[in-house]
This record gives sequence, structure tokens and C-alpha cells, in this order.
Amino acid sequence: MKTRNNSGGLDYFKIAAALLVVSIHTSPLSTYSMDADFILTRILARIAVPFFLMVTGCFILPDYLFHHSRKRQALLHFIKKTALLYALAAVLYLPVGIYAGIYKDITFVSILKMIIFDGTLYHLWYLPASILGILIVYLLSRRLSFPSVMAVSLLLYFVGLFGDSYYGLISGILEVSALYDTGFHLFSYTRNGLFYAPIFLITGAWLGHSDRPIKRQVSLAGFVLSLLIMTAEGLILRHFHIPRHDSMYLALLPGMLFLYQLLLSVQIRPVKALRSIALWIYIIHPLAILAVRVAARATGLTSVFVENSLVHYLAVCGLSAGFAVLVTLFPIKNDKKDFLQGRAWVELDRNALRHNVKVFRTMLPDTCELMPAVKAEAYGHGAVLISRELNAMGVKAFCVASVLEGVKLRKNKIKGEILVLGYTSPEQFYLLRRYHLIQTVIDHSYAEVLQHYGKEIRVHIGIDTGMHRLGERCENINEIYDIFCMKTLKVEGIFTHLCANDTTAPTDKAFTQLQAETFYHVIKELEVRGCACPKLHLQASYGVLNYPELAGDYARIGIALYGVLSTGADQSSCQISLKPVLSIKARVASVRALYRGEAAGYGLMFTAKQDMTIAALAIGYADGLPRSLSNGVGKVLINGCEAPIIGRICMDQTLVDVTGIPDAAAGSIAVIIGKSGDLEITACDIAAQADTITNEILSRLGMRLERQMIG
Ligand SMILES: *Cc1c(COP(=O)(O)O)cnc(C)c1O
Repeated sequence: MKTRNNSGGLDYFKIAAALLVVSIHTSPLSTYSMDADFILTRILARIAVPFFLMVTGCFILPDYLFHHSRKRQALLHFIKKTALLYALAAVLYLPVGIYAGIYKDITFVSILKMIIFDGTLYHLWYLPASILGILIVYLLSRRLSFPSVMAVSLLLYFVGLFGDSYYGLISGILEVSALYDTGFHLFSYTRNGLFYAPIFLITGAWLGHSDRPIKRQVSLAGFVLSLLIMTAEGLILRHFHIPRHDSMYLALLPGMLFLYQLLLSVQIRPVKALRSIALWIYIIHPLAILAVRVAARATGLTSVFVENSLVHYLAVCGLSAGFAVLVTLFPIKNDKKDFLQGRAWVELDRNALRHNVKVFRTMLPDTCELMPAVKAEAYGHGAVLISRELNAMGVKAFCVASVLEGVKLRKNKIKGEILVLGYTSPEQFYLLRRYHLIQTVIDHSYAEVLQHYGKEIRVHIGIDTGMHRLGERCENINEIYDIFCMKTLKVEGIFTHLCANDTTAPTDKAFTQLQAETFYHVIKELEVRGCACPKLHLQASYGVLNYPELAGDYARIGIALYGVLSTGADQSSCQISLKPVLSIKARVASVRALYRGEAAGYGLMFTAKQDMTIAALAIGYADGLPRSLSNGVGKVLINGCEAPIIGRICMDQTLVDVTGIPDAAAGSIAVIIGKSGDLEITACDIAAQADTITNEILSRLGMRLERQMIG
């Protein structure tokens, strides 16, 4: 298989082609010679658009046409992207169209005709044409073999010829010309997605895929000869007044074939920026024409910048290209500072977090405050980033697992109560006081250790109502009362933890209710003994979701606040809509070929069954990607396509199969968790593949991932 990465020649020619398109719309030589201008803009420049179509075909279609898997992802991705661009460009040019009076006397049919075939403004026809062309090739190739699709596409082109440059030849034949004239009610030109685009798309796909390149000298000679013949063809047709329009020539077909081969044979590095620059020149140049005219009139320089066609052309090219370079090289950056999107990183969606906070505030009674669990770096999200954001949303209480987690929050200026849920060693008690943290009383004997410290410590008392992990056993009322009476312990809360509340199955429900009853029984006993009971809390995420009636003064929500649940099954049966806050992305470090029979990675666990393209991603198990996802168990997304993990995941790198994924190159971004195009991988998916729960996957994410709140 020929590698399609070798597209440097194509990238450079894109700029030339874009400038040729500009020439078609500005007639640069008309001041000097109408004939020369005709040859340049009506004949030679006609290679530009077929070239763009061939590149599209070359990168989008081979996967579908030539691979057994017949993946449609690249195709769908292209259609979506182009449709979006078309919609944006149509809106951008709406004022121009209105000014030019194009939308006057508009009917439903003429709108359709415009949108599907002609484009909503003259140069935009290319966008719907490439979509329609791709769809036609796709539909044809579902039924027909590759050579037949080629033949049909060629036939369509020939039919189109007689509605374009060769119209005069059939206009004498009554029935045929009537047929064409009926057609022209549907489309103004045969230069469109139906007749014109398919042959170039499929030829591009074929050449990009074929591994029998023609010699460079032969391509060059063939191309020059074709151009000469095309020039003669165009001039002769014009001489006899045959053309209705001048986009389609016979010699254009061999000409494009040779040109494309020639460009593929140029061994220079691909430059991605050129693609974007060419696209922007194409999109923006009609506005540049307008701008040059307006500016020339305003400055009284019309005679130079408008009346001299060549200066006019150069000014339009300069303006369009300048704009295109600016847009490409200086994309609008939002506040990124130390967030570099370097090798692998976590993006946190501020709006998703805000949404989840709002959902839980609505669900809980006003008397119950959120006390988000931000332990384990906020379940891998980044405790400081998340807590800072929650502070800004008015959250005034947090819980963490260790005293140092609490200290870190304080050092980063997090406000409000911070409850340490787990064990703190006596050596670190001073930190509780210095950083205004609240310690959990793990049981009666731990309370004695706390008291032994001698200075006042703020505490919440944990009660064991059935989980048998931490907390004083619920039946030990005397011990609990004793903790209350310890002088140096400032009891600000009492809580328990539910351990069977992830379902509402009868036995779980009964157990959960028993836990709650037991908890409130303890509280009542304490009140009877004259203890003023402070803040009470017992719900974590599943408690709020499944047993909202158990709301206390705080809800210690963890996993659900991050927009996911522990398992995919829980997630899909969950009635309320939560939005995942976290995505993980990593760079493609290197793309290379893996030939049939070669094996890859540690232990050579993966062997290529056919020639393929693989990529090394800059993320590994040290970053939290479970090693059990090796060997095809897991996958990532690149440019809206799935790339299965192959071989063994390494500590810092992971190999994936990128065969047929458009534009997968060093520097491309792979999505490990999150969305790409239409596809999404959730933390639940990864948890299922690794045979664990989401909580474990997230909380084990590596600390060397950069993290940033976005949105
Ligand atoms: C971790 C933890 C929570 C949060 O649990 P989620 O299920 O993630 O909401 C609440 N309470 C205690 C005691 C915890 O240890």
C-alpha cells in the first residue's frame, strides 16, 4: 500500500489552485489581452477545482473503497465538516447575496436548486458539489465494483460535457437539448456534484491508493501536453460558439491524471498550515474583491486597483492570503497560560460542572448543602481546579480523604469547611488546626488519641451503621456520648456512610433504610442525653440519586458531581441528566507503517495481518490508562474515527491502529475519554473494559497529565 502521508506536493499546489480560483473571479489579464485572459481563466485555471476534488477523494474515499472493513467514518466526518463549513459560508455571504439581488424572486425549488447544486453564492457551489459527489460515489460503490463506479462517473462527466463546453453540439438535436434544458431547471450548470465531481473524487481515491506510480518525467510531459490540447480544445470550441459554460473539457481528464501523479511524486514534507491557508483564500476571496473595490473608491485609487486587472488580482490575492495566514497562524487563543496541551492532558468542562451542581441543588431540599468529595485529586480531575470552581459557584464545604489533601486546598486559597474523612496520624494533628480542617472521629479509641493532643480539634463523628469500615459502632451509645463530652473535641457534625444504596432492590432498600433509622436512633439517644446535635449527613452520590428523602444537612457527593456514575449500567438507568466534566487527550507522537507479518510493542503481542498504519500516542499506564486495555481491548478516537489499541500499553506510550484515519499525523490529538466527531468514549466504557468501576479509573489518573478548566 502506498503511504498517503507523502502529500507535501499536494499541500503546496493547494495554494496555487486557490490563486487560480481567484483568477477565475478577477480576470487578471483582461487589461492586456482578452484572449490571454480567456486562456488563463477559462481554460488553464479549470484545473483548480478538479484538483481539490481529487485531494478530497484521495483522503476520504480509499478507506471505504479499498479496505475490507469498509469504514464510513472518514466519509461521514468529511460530509459533516463540509456541511458545517457550507452553512457558515452561506451565512457569511448572505449580505453579499442580498446586496447583489441573488435572492430576489426566490421560490422553494430555486432555494433547493441553489443549496444542492449551484451554491448559495457563486463560488460556494464547490462545497455542496463535493458533498453530493462523495454521496454519489458512496451509493454507487455499495452496489457496483470499483471499475463500474469509475465507468459510471466517467459517463456522468460526458453527459455533463454536453451541458457545458460542448452544449452547442447537442443544441441542434431537439429532443436531447429539451432534456438538457429541463435539467437546467434543476441545476444552472452541469458543473456540479452530480456530473462533474464524481469522476475527480474517484480518480483521486484511485491514484492515492495505487502503488504503481508513473515516472515523474512522463507525468510532467503528459500534463504539459494535456494543457496544450486543452487550450486548443477551448479555443476551438469558443471559435465555433459551442460552449454554454467553460468548466468541463475532454483534455481536463488526462491532464488531471498526470498532474496528480506528478504532485504525488514530489517528495517534500507535508505542511498542514497550507491546507488551511488555501481553504481560507477560497472562502474569503469574494469578500476581498469587495474590500479592494470599496477601498479603491474611498481612496480615489480606482484607476490603479480596479481598472488595472493585474494589480486588482494581486491586491485581492494579497488581501485574501494575508487574512488566511493570519487566521491559520494566530488562532484565537483563550487564557491558556501554563496549560500547553503538550503530550497528554485533562480538559475539564466548566459548564458541565456547573450543570451538575445545579441539578443536585434542584434535587436537594434548601436545608441540605453540597459537600462535594474532592478526595483523590477530585477523582482525578484536579482537586484545586475543581474546588476553586465550586467555591465560585457558592459551594462552601468539601470533603477529602487525607489531611494533606486538605492542606493543599487551603494553600490554594479554597474557602469553606474541609472535612477529612480518613485517618490522620497524631504527628499531623497540628495541620488540622493550622489549616482549619475538620477531622473525622473514626471510632472511640481514635477520639481518645485526638483528645490526647490537648488542643481543640474540630471533628465530625463517624457512626458505623452497617458498613463496618470506619465510625463508632452504632449500638455503642455510651462511647459515642463519651466522645461528645471530650473537652478538646469540638463536635460540629455526625455522619454515617451508606453501603448498599447503589440500587433500590428490595434487600438493598431495606438495608439502606435500616442504616438511616439506626443513624437517627443514635441522634435521638444523644439528644435525650442533652447533646445539641450539629450537622448531620449520610448521603453520597447514590444516596442522593436513589434515596433523596434521606437528605441531611450535607450531601457528600463525589462521582456524580463529575457527571458520571460508577458503571455504564447505572449511568444509562439514571433518570437525571448529568454531564461528564472530564476528557483526556494525548498527542500522536509518531505515525509509521507496520507491514504485514510485522509485530509491534513489548513482547510482540500484536502482528499485522495486512499492511497498516500505526501511531504511538504520548500516554501510557503511568498516566492512568489501564494496561488491561492492551491488545485491542481498548480504543481511542482520532479525527472522529476509532483507533484500536494494539500491542501492550507501555508506561508512557500506547500504540494504536490508525489505518485509514484521515490526517492522523505526529501532533494529531487522540481522545482517550471524551468526544471526537460523532463518537464518544466515556469513563464508564474504559471502566467496563478494565473490569472495574469509573471511580477507580478516574482517581488513578496520573499526576503528570496537565489539567485545565475550559469553557
Ligand atoms: C468517597 C466518599 C463519598 C463520596 O462518594 P461518591 O459515591 O463518590 O459520591 C462520600 N462519603 C464518604 C465517607 C466517602 O468516603
